[in-house]
Amino acid sequence: MKIAYGILVAVEIFLLGACSVLAFRKKGILAKTTFAYELGSFICGIVFAIYTFVPGNMIKTLCAGLTYAIFDWLIIALMYYTQYYTGLFKGVRFVKIAMFVYSAFDTVMMISNTWTHNMFYIDNISADAINVVFNQASLVYKAHFIYNYIGIIVVMLAYLTMIVESSRFYRFRYEMILLVLIAAFTLDIITIGNNSIYDLSMPVFGFMAMLIYYLTFQYVPNEVIENMLSLIIKDMNSGIVCFDNRGRCIYSNDVADVMYASDSSHSGKAHGDFEAEYRKWIEKHKDTRKDYMKYDIPVNSASGSRYYEIEYKRILDEKNNHICDYFIVNDISDAIATLESEKYKASHDSLTGLLNRDQFYEETRKMLRSNPDRKYSMICSNIRDFKFVNELFGIEKGNSVLIRQGELMKAYQREGDLCARIQNDRFAMLVPSDHKIEEHIMSCVRLMQEEFKSSSFKLHIFAGVYEIDDIDEPVSIMCDKANIASETIKNSYQKYVAYYNNELLERSIEERRIIGEFEKAIDNNEFVMFLQPQVDYKGKAYGAEALVRWQHPDRGLLSPAVFIDVLEKAGLIYKLDRYMWEKAAEKLGEWKRKGYTQYHISVNISTKDFYLVDVYETFTGLADKYNINPDKLKLEITETALMSDFEKNMEIIRRLQKYGFKIEIDDFGSGYSSLNMLKDISADVLKIDMGFLRASENELKGRDILESIISLAGKLGMEVITEGVEKESQVHMLKDMGCNMFQGYFFSKPVQVKEFESRYNIR
Ligand code: C2E
Ligand code: CA
Ligand code: CA
Repeated sequence: MKIAYGILVAVEIFLLGACSVLAFRKKGILAKTTFAYELGSFICGIVFAIYTFVPGNMIKTLCAGLTYAIFDWLIIALMYYTQYYTGLFKGVRFVKIAMFVYSAFDTVMMISNTWTHNMFYIDNISADAINVVFNQASLVYKAHFIYNYIGIIVVMLAYLTMIVESSRFYRFRYEMILLVLIAAFTLDIITIGNNSIYDLSMPVFGFMAMLIYYLTFQYVPNEVIENMLSLIIKDMNSGIVCFDNRGRCIYSNDVADVMYASDSSHSGKAHGDFEAEYRKWIEKHKDTRKDYMKYDIPVNSASGSRYYEIEYKRILDEKNNHICDYFIVNDISDAIATLESEKYKASHDSLTGLLNRDQFYEETRKMLRSNPDRKYSMICSNIRDFKFVNELFGIEKGNSVLIRQGELMKAYQREGDLCARIQNDRFAMLVPSDHKIEEHIMSCVRLMQEEFKSSSFKLHIFAGVYEIDDIDEPVSIMCDKANIASETIKNSYQKYVAYYNNELLERSIEERRIIGEFEKAIDNNEFVMFLQPQVDYKGKAYGAEALVRWQHPDRGLLSPAVFIDVLEKAGLIYKLDRYMWEKAAEKLGEWKRKGYTQYHISVNISTKDFYLVDVYETFTGLADKYNINPDKLKLEITETALMSDFEKNMEIIRRLQKYGFKIEIDDFGSGYSSLNMLKDISADVLKIDMGFLRASENELKGRDILESIISLAGKLGMEVITEGVEKESQVHMLKDMGCNMFQGYFFSKPVQVKEFESRYNIR
């Protein structure tokens, strides 16, 4: 019996030592307190073994005292351990200090008892009993037991609290400790006064120390893992369905059940149906099934069509035996919807909902490739002066114009048509050529004009149509061609649709060429000033008009008809004009130095010069630089040039006149001129184009008008010059009407400066 008990105690001491070492190696405050408790229990075990098995009254008395003292310290260790294990006992610092002081005191008393026998003494040691006689009168002895019992009860209450308050998953941890505490405590109380050496309360306390180690560091209950996993699975947003190796559905979470129920193609209990679905699935993937698969499927559910992402996995054991299959199902409809909407946004114009340019190009390409035998036309439309719509009526109005046009295009759109907003107010459409294209454009334009009618503005939409003949041509070029066609009617109020032809392309290529070569030509002095004499009816010259020619290195002498309009459109004309003005001023300066001051030179000023050049500064600068008489430089301006910003331009004209320059109104009668306007323009010379007479339907009426213009100009103090005079009869007629100055082929074509000079003996 004694041997068995001895072995039990020895094993326990060994295990407690092991627990101490292991706890010592762990990190953290909980590990430290556990270590303290394990070490205390280990020492207590050794002392207790000595007490039980080593003979001698004194040694037994000392060991008993030490055991009691160690109990004091174990209570402290247990309390600290409990604090970190349960989170209770925070604060109460004062109590803790008191406990330390008391334990130290009690330890001294217990050791000294070996000699003083104040608290207890040992007598009558037999083979299996030790009689400990307590001094019932000793206060220290009483205090020891009260302290110990209160300590244990408080700790037990702490665990009780945790059992009540914590989640059922973790209650077990506290229940175990409390149970062993109760057992040890009960045994302890029962064994008071029992002299047997086989004191079971000691091994039970030791067992508790080991249990504490186990619960603190080792124990993770399977149940907790299981419950936790099932909670996690239940909580996931994915549907999960598991089948065992016989195809039985062993688990499906709520999400899977709901997904399945909402799938309109089946109804009823999920689990049974899952098995049927699973069998069908396995059958379907008989040959293609892999142990892991992931794919998306569209599903029609009660709440509309949805997309599911299915992940399938087969679990095998280490011997490759089939354990189970599971499916994870994710509803990815929202993600797909977001993706779709992003795709839509990236491919459509946000304002009109039509395709955007890139998408239109791509879809056009596809459409043409997939219908190679069908003829298609590219239509590109443009709104004239759209920026004025925005400026006059506001951006919102401008937007509503664009939106409306988009709507009308969509309304017309038929199977096989593509509509897009290419850029700002430019729209494009790809339509089969047999559609009534022009009819549609016209009805659309009329509707728009009706809807956005205003007294001060008329909406003008114009479109170019290009019948595609090479489907492999880049779509951007197709649009360019349609645009080139539309540009030709940009300035017409009557035409709305223009068709592309190769001549237009050639013209546009020509334009680009001119623009491309222009700057270099200016630098290389390729532009030459020609002079056309301005004479009296006898042919005596007053001066000349400077007319530009381009001495092109490859193409020979180019007429201004080839390049003036192009440069005007491109906003480059001001450079050429400045160049010509300088040439004229230079020539006048030269003539003046040579003593020929009777001749003037008229130079042309283009409409756009007023925007881009400080006309006043430039001319006065030139007069200065070449030291010329300003009245020998005549400035030819058309009425339209003045009209664009009448007040401002008139102010410039007045200043130039004040400086001494002469102002000529060029091409009078060719535009929408009115006689009334003459009184507002304070020009020096009125230049009437003969072509005006030729163009008028009723020549007699034309002559009457011409006569009144000449007489009116005279009354207003203006000189009159007629240009384009080709016949002698014209000279006579004009002379009779009161015109004294002429310019025209009848007298001379424009000629090189040298020829002009030799003709008039300027040397
Ligand atoms: P414009 O200013 O009206 O110049 C008169 C044009 O009529 C010249 O054509 C001239 O050669 C032509 N012409 C003269 N007499 C007759 C005639 O009896 N019968 C006919 N049918 N035509 C005649 P050109 O030189 O080809 O110039 C054409 C236009 O180019 C000019 O019209 C002018 O608007 C513009 N231009 C010429 N040089 C310049 C320039 O340096 N700057 C600017 N901005 N425009 C210029
Ligand atoms: Ca002119
Ligand atoms: Ca003219």
